[in-house]
Amino acid sequence: MKDRFGRVINYLRLSVTDRCNLRCRYCMPDGEDKRKPRMRLLTVSEIENVARAAVRVGIRKIRLTGGEPTLRSDILEIVHRLSNIPGVEELVMTTNGIRLEQLAAPLQRAGLRRVNIHLDSLDSVHVKALSGSDCLRRVWDGIIAAEQAGLSPIKINVVVVHGYNDLDVVEMAQLALQHPWQIRFIELMPLGKPAGFAMEHYVASQETLARIESALGPLVAEPACGDNADISCYRLAEGKGRLEFISPVSHAHCHRCNHIRVTADGRIRLCLLRDDEWSLRDGLRSSDPVGTLADLFSCAIQCKPRGSQLAQGIFPTSRPMVRIGG
Ligand code: SAM
Repeated sequence: MKDRFGRVINYLRLSVTDRCNLRCRYCMPDGEDKRKPRMRLLTVSEIENVARAAVRVGIRKIRLTGGEPTLRSDILEIVHRLSNIPGVEELVMTTNGIRLEQLAAPLQRAGLRRVNIHLDSLDSVHVKALSGSDCLRRVWDGIIAAEQAGLSPIKINVVVVHGYNDLDVVEMAQLALQHPWQIRFIELMPLGKPAGFAMEHYVASQETLARIESALGPLVAEPACGDNADISCYRLAEGKGRLEFISPVSHAHCHRCNHIRVTADGRIRLCLLRDDEWSLRDGLRSSDPVGTLADLFSCAIQCKPRGSQLAQGIFPTSRPMVRIGG
């Protein structure tokens, strides 16, 4: 389906939980209370109805996210149900990788095609400083398990944070020399309460790219990047993998945006960087949930804003990333 600006919307990022086993400084508000009542999460059947409705309005790719999606005890059932919906051409997941050593093979058998794994550094002290957890070894084992399970190509998400891991980007880029992986350097975005931290520690992609080039030599630009029009892709000479730069702050590509989000509590979020949301709750309770939800999706897509308002200094305040779904 096209929105009112002519953009084809065919990609849904579907959050299945707001819980996470990490405390990344830019993703979750400081001192988040683990005992705080959690949002009411969509059930497996509700998630399936949302996905079926999304497919009716033209969604072809679904990314499961969170919070940490692998913390849901029914994650295999969710993957199994969604992968069997006619019209879902690509079912992928964004994860911190901590549970992948056990789950990669079962997820693949359930129908998952690929994973993006979040890893900010190969220095365990820096990983702990950013995520609050001594998890580097487990994430690494998860990456290897995902590769062995055939969840490829492996994509690694690196959020670049000044004073924490901005000097580690060269070592992260070197992973693409030996491995056929896509190493993706992401600009820090201001969202919810951690927005102050994000603004203070922001590093532009241009700076990350220059640091990598000065250490490893010129990068070779790659022309195409699948359906991800907002990503600049490069290759290192002799490299097996690829480097990608995602620059939502310095070079937003809102005019090519092809996705919408659904939060774990059942709200459509039309732009990551704007607070506008549409509730799906009434649709979920209706006698024809898929039909009603599809109508809601159609209307919502027609209201998708032209783009973020970061250039005007306006950023979203209602939710941090962990409660939206990255
Ligand atoms: N728990 C999973 C994970 O760690 O990847 C999935 C959820 S997490 C919200 C999804 C992605 O959001 C992470 O991989 C990270 O790259 C990105 N992210 C989180 N907060 C961000 C921020 N403030 N700016 C840019 N990217 C962010």
